[in-house]
Amino acid sequence: MTRFIFITGGVVSSLGKGLASAALGAALQARGYKVRLRKLDPYINVDPGTMSPYQHGEVYVTDDGAETDLDLGHYERFTCVDARQSDNVTTGKVYSEVLAKERRGDYLGATVQVIPHITDYIKEFVMGHVGDEDFMLIEIGGTVGDIESLPFLEAIRQLGNELGRERALYMHLTLLPYIPTAGELKTKPTQHSVKELLAVGIQADILLCRADREIPEGERKKIALFCNVPFEAVIPALDVSTIYQVPISYHEQGLDEQVCKRFGLDAPKLDLSRWKEIVERVTKPEGEVTIAIVGKYVSLLDAYKSLSEALTHGGIANSVKVNLVWFDAEVFEREDVVQYLDGVHGILVPGGFGERGTEGKIEAVRFARERNIPYFGICLGMQVAVIEAARNMANIDGAGSTELGKPKEPVVGLMTEWAREGELEKRAKKGDLGGTMRLGAYPCVLAKGSRAFDIYGADEISERHRHRYEVNTSYKLQLEDAGLSFSGMSPDGILPEIVEIPEHPWFVAVQFHPELKSRPFEPHPLFVSFIDAAVQQSRLV
Ligand code: GLN
Repeated sequence: MTRFIFITGGVVSSLGKGLASAALGAALQARGYKVRLRKLDPYINVDPGTMSPYQHGEVYVTDDGAETDLDLGHYERFTCVDARQSDNVTTGKVYSEVLAKERRGDYLGATVQVIPHITDYIKEFVMGHVGDEDFMLIEIGGTVGDIESLPFLEAIRQLGNELGRERALYMHLTLLPYIPTAGELKTKPTQHSVKELLAVGIQADILLCRADREIPEGERKKIALFCNVPFEAVIPALDVSTIYQVPISYHEQGLDEQVCKRFGLDAPKLDLSRWKEIVERVTKPEGEVTIAIVGKYVSLLDAYKSLSEALTHGGIANSVKVNLVWFDAEVFEREDVVQYLDGVHGILVPGGFGERGTEGKIEAVRFARERNIPYFGICLGMQVAVIEAARNMANIDGAGSTELGKPKEPVVGLMTEWAREGELEKRAKKGDLGGTMRLGAYPCVLAKGSRAFDIYGADEISERHRHRYEVNTSYKLQLEDAGLSFSGMSPDGILPEIVEIPEHPWFVAVQFHPELKSRPFEPHPLFVSFIDAAVQQSRLV
């Protein structure tokens, strides 16, 4: 029997609801239960693919090609359960599907309304594609009290009624702010938030209370009394030094036990040893390395969430702390890179879209290549590496990408420009770019004897993609002659997936996003190897 845990947030946003959900999933999993996490997002965008990373953080891509909320990255990293298309929905998606049904006449003349049509669709989404999971954890985005989350709250209220208490539980994440002048943590915002939930018919079962210090017993009692929950179900969620501590500390505060108790389950014994080991490694590194990340959205680090996590995982595997220094690539277009990049142990250019800062990224690649500093290029980071190699190793004058203007030599271009039946496809200027994105997992064949082959220890791999442009294979021979090797290709040999410079201590660039598949317990081999190379580099400088 699958049980459903609905997770809402109150008081303020950014309380770490995604992480809290993932941590509860991890704790239940550590008790031997099978879990899956899902997220319902109240915004109107059909998916976050069209949202600026500045506003919403990174777009997380699943194996099956869904562009999803970054919280799904937390879910995957904490539970190692691959997220799917059916694990994230937005208001925009719900409405577009309901409207499509209405246009088809599927509602047989009915007046289509928020209740029941929109809420029915949400309920179907929550209950759909559920297998033999013991627990489905359903996180509702936004903060209780927002107008836009109302249909979702109504849907989960109805589900609570339909599933019954033995199959549905409501957990609410709140904040206890500390007021210095009073010298107290305040419970009132929590009381109001719980009341707000009650107003839409949902009585919270468990309250997870974020606070920056110990919550005195008296305050917990007060919350229990006013919010109508048992004292033990008021769980302190205090700030911790590393995110990997979260499942452990929630467990110590009794969260997973309360969930089991509330469902009348004999909580099976739990094993959190692998989490403890990770915390131990993160908090007691044996050394440190500094990695420069040359990107675009560097003022909002959520834009590169999976990337910074994957680098941390690479550090865990090598027992070192990875210090990340973020650079806005545009700076390198005006100023000499040396003053910024001299002394770093590795340089990484991550994925990105649009022209801004690309020449600066190319400068960063050049610096890494010429100075023998480990270089890791991801997606756009591979495309700029190929442009740099074309210009400065193969002397192809005017090499560039068609994403970034009209280069004389399009070494990177829209894949359809040359791939379609031997004809160069021309796209109308204002043509729709939708549908041309390569999304989700694709296989890649590795060249024997290459660094990539060594790192993966496999002939064929599968990695996740999110891009429109590709390296143009018409330049492959010229680039190979100049010393850039194509060590990973799509199985049909048409799309370059990995390039490397065998002469360089560590220069690997990939068209896909390996960071999306790295987990603390299964650090991605490319990140492990890159950080290892950075450790070697740190011994030289
Ligand atoms: N902008 C490039 C493309 O669309 C790279 C995308 C990315 O780095 N994710 O191909």
